[in-house]
Amino acid sequence: MPTVAYISHSDFGLHDTGWGHPEHVGRLRAIPRALRYDFELFERLEHREARHATADELALVHDARYVAMIQQLAEAGGARLDADTVVSPGSWAAATAGTGAVLDAVDLAFAPGGGPRRSFCAVRPPGHHALRSSGMGFCLFGHVAAGAHYARATHGAERVLIVDWDVHHGNGTQALVQDTPDIRFVSMHQWPWYPGTGPATDRGPHDSVWNVPMPAGQRREAYVAAFLSAVDSAAIGFTPDLVLISAGFDSLAGDPLGGFTLEMVDVDQLTREMVSRADQWCGGRLVSSLEGGYDPERLGEACVVHMRALTGAGWGVGGAG
Ligand SMILES: [Zn+2]
Repeated sequence: MPTVAYISHSDFGLHDTGWGHPEHVGRLRAIPRALRYDFELFERLEHREARHATADELALVHDARYVAMIQQLAEAGGARLDADTVVSPGSWAAATAGTGAVLDAVDLAFAPGGGPRRSFCAVRPPGHHALRSSGMGFCLFGHVAAGAHYARATHGAERVLIVDWDVHHGNGTQALVQDTPDIRFVSMHQWPWYPGTGPATDRGPHDSVWNVPMPAGQRREAYVAAFLSAVDSAAIGFTPDLVLISAGFDSLAGDPLGGFTLEMVDVDQLTREMVSRADQWCGGRLVSSLEGGYDPERLGEACVVHMRALTGAGWGVGGAG
């Protein structure tokens, strides 16, 4: 029986930002293309089509008027929320499926029986910059933040840990969870860099936020060590019932929107370290959701490495990596 679900949705292709936009539909198409070269992994995954989150579910983290506005803008033919953040006619279907993917993954993590405890949600648009009443930074809805609140509201989870290794600060996730001290948030990000938030001194109003700003161009090992050290600090006296990963692969070397230096071996290690911690803390409940990553070929490969590590299969097994 598969231990890992791979959750996606054909509607993600309907979010039309244009090919000149870094967050274009080709990013997501690169994932099944890379997965085809790893047939053993493909067979090992439980492939699922996400549901669409409802307006009530989105209201766990967003102002209802903002949610309605996104739907209306999409239905009216689309608009730009800012220079980077596009609502196209298909964006309502895509963005609600993005949140729905994470909520489905949370349902799976808590489901009785022997189904997958770990999931990877291959979504777009990404989510970790979205604020309560505004989208920004390519993001419309805060998928991972919604997943954390949903786990508490629906599955009786008390403590949730969110970790974010995207090269950009997860300012939206922080804003949507920092008033709930039982949701802890760790974000490692390039500094100074977009969106300009997330200094180490910003611990949130309840000291439940660990921001790890890092300069560009450091040795790979420095990022891995700083990230894991912050994760372990966040888990002192706090055993999560669920772990969520904002898996941004723009932290890889060569990404057009970042200056970090991670390689596939680091994606493998970071994933395995989080799997091991989730096994110790919470019966393995681990939900990962795609954020950034703007070199499509590298993104596809990274998602395969990440999912292979989520299954616990050996490095390089089956082949693409
Ligand atoms: Zn990013």
